[in-house]
Amino acid sequence: MQGLMMDYPLTLQHIFQRAERLFPDREIVSKMPGGAIHRYTYGDFTRRAQRLANALADLGVRPGDRVATCAWNHYRHLELYFAIPCMGAVLHTLNVRLFPEQITYIVNHAEDKVLVVDESLLPLVQRLAPTFKSVQHYIIMSDRGDIETTLAPAHDYEQLLDAAGSSFAWPRLDENQAAGMCYTSGTTGNPKGVAYSHRALFLHSMGSAVADSVGASERDTIFIVVPMFHANAWGLPFTSTMVGAQQVYPSNNMQPRDLATLIQDERATIAAGVPTLWIGLFQELQEREYDISSLHTLVVGGSAAPRAMIEGFEKRFGVPILHAWGMTETSPLGTVSRLTPKLAAAGVEARLAARARQGRPVPGVELRLVGDDGRELPWDGQSMGEVQIRGPWVIRSYYNDERSPASFSEDGWLRTGDVGVITPDGYIELKDRTKDLIKSGGEWISSMDLENAIMAHSRVLEAAVVAVPHSKWQERPLAVVVLRPGQSLTREELLDFLRLTIASWALPDDVVFVESLPKTSVGKFDKKVLRNQFREYQLPTDAGA
Ligand code: AMP
Repeated sequence: MQGLMMDYPLTLQHIFQRAERLFPDREIVSKMPGGAIHRYTYGDFTRRAQRLANALADLGVRPGDRVATCAWNHYRHLELYFAIPCMGAVLHTLNVRLFPEQITYIVNHAEDKVLVVDESLLPLVQRLAPTFKSVQHYIIMSDRGDIETTLAPAHDYEQLLDAAGSSFAWPRLDENQAAGMCYTSGTTGNPKGVAYSHRALFLHSMGSAVADSVGASERDTIFIVVPMFHANAWGLPFTSTMVGAQQVYPSNNMQPRDLATLIQDERATIAAGVPTLWIGLFQELQEREYDISSLHTLVVGGSAAPRAMIEGFEKRFGVPILHAWGMTETSPLGTVSRLTPKLAAAGVEARLAARARQGRPVPGVELRLVGDDGRELPWDGQSMGEVQIRGPWVIRSYYNDERSPASFSEDGWLRTGDVGVITPDGYIELKDRTKDLIKSGGEWISSMDLENAIMAHSRVLEAAVVAVPHSKWQERPLAVVVLRPGQSLTREELLDFLRLTIASWALPDDVVFVESLPKTSVGKFDKKVLRNQFREYQLPTDAGA
């Protein structure tokens, strides 16, 4: 039996129109670049997004055209998030922290027709504009109007909206057409383009809203710290709008004090960002008094959430960390570490261990673990292999990129390059990126396990472990450590501490204390920079060839 159900396209228009009808009074709060607080309602948002769609159409934007944004997290960016895809064009969020030549590559590769930029990011775009080949219009988002710029033709966002028609007749869309695109901040070669269909973003929003996933609801106030230029802020602007949650955006105000104040003042219930942000927040909460009692879920992903941080938030502030794993290529949600009923009833140690894992696949995606020989490995918590994933919001190929075949299997599995184990109850526990694993003799040492163990020391703020060439063992681990302000610790003290949990052969051969760790454009430890920095490092254990 076929054809029993209506062929209803799953598009962002549905999310938008539902929000317009059901949630006109819910609030969207933005702390703008410069620090001013802006508040308005979903009603204001949906009215302005229609004006924006008219304005873009007036400038010549047609279905399929790419419109780039170069912007922080705030209400205008949210308007772009919906107006562009709902009119049939493609929202292309530019990662403002990439190297200039990468931004040039991305804009030209995506053939962006219009570029919408925050006033605070204007210097960057002005510098690069002569290298952009396809951009026909620039739109500047500011509160002042009439900004002086070398960009041409340039328009003021607010003036465009004022002049545009107030309602937009959304065209009928095919759920498989592109709604958005991002580029992965690859550490080698040019960034790779990832295009998301409406269907993928719709289903991803559902997948992220279910209770055992992120679990967003109309009763939530969701603080979206993860940048809107990084994997669609983990899809949270779409999920939040779908369920009618209040939304809070920090723009570029991401100092620990800003984060703590916004959580407190807006009574945020869910907040989402990379571990380094929450490590900073934890430190701030210990130093100054804030009321963060509204927070029921702190979503952490993008890199491994250190167990010590998970424990700290839970024990000191009663805030459970929800560890999540995913990639730009997976829209990005892949797994979420909610506790099974059995684990929820288990002792504190078992619970913390489970929360420190990256979690179980959210409904809609499939996982498998594959060994070096290409064979599938058992989910026994021991066998280590590459995590592969497929599902309706996982891409099948990169956008116009001949490097695609290396990353995808014939039957749609994405080779993630992440190595880990899967427990019998389905939790993945990542051990490393393939390229970050430390190969010592015939054994692999997990840099993530070591980092976790080091960051459990109360005087350590952050730590990254990288492989250093070794004449006897091929590679040995080197720990690069940042201490908490005002603290001191010796190499021997740290190694003694690690001996409590780490087998002696896997201990770092040396420890280097630094002021800060290099971070990537999206706030992860930049292991590539560290590896290069310490490539020639003389380990005390290496007598030479
Ligand atoms: P991106 O596409 O920039 O979001 O990077 C995706 C990569 O980030 C993944 O392939 C992982 O290597 C890493 N990653 C994301 N979430 C986690 C996590 N919870 N724990 C460890 N690594 C993570």
